[in-house]
Amino acid sequence: MKRSKNLVVLSHCLLNSNAKVEPYASHAGVNHDVVFPYMTKGYGIIQLPCPETCYLGLNRWGMTKNQYDHPSYRSHCQQILQPSLNQIEAFVKAGYKITGVIGIKGSPNCGVLHTCQGFQGGEIDHSRIDSQIEQLTIVKEPGVFMEVFQQELELRKLKLRFLEIED
Ligand code: SF4
Repeated sequence: MKRSKNLVVLSHCLLNSNAKVEPYASHAGVNHDVVFPYMTKGYGIIQLPCPETCYLGLNRWGMTKNQYDHPSYRSHCQQILQPSLNQIEAFVKAGYKITGVIGIKGSPNCGVLHTCQGFQGGEIDHSRIDSQIEQLTIVKEPGVFMEVFQQELELRKLKLRFLEIED
């Protein structure tokens, strides 16, 4: 039996940079700097869904946590997380070790310790862009998707370690 019984949970775009909001993408596809060490050590990888691409597609604007923070968006996150949660629960119950969850620093959704706040929305207008950008701040709290993920894990009495990386 070759299986390691070790797993890591990654934010979607660490395995698929194409999902990121334009024009960001630190890698052509897979972030091999993060993924390769896990591959060589025999870890299995659980890829979380990308909440933004599933909800708004690839033409979305860059937004901040307060803009995503709406009950219907939270219920979208809750819904798309269920297959991953079922999988995680099955592995934990079977005695597999999940070393942790890696999110994306500063993301309005996948930030773990840092997210962004401030954009107020409204029409794109040259006279308002500067003031929108001035309102952008990084705050020390999780993004919406990771917040919902942590709540859902708690409901299932599953404890995972969370960390974030710059990507
Ligand atoms: S950080 Fe999260 S929401 Fe943003 S592209 Fe990556 S997976 Fe999608």
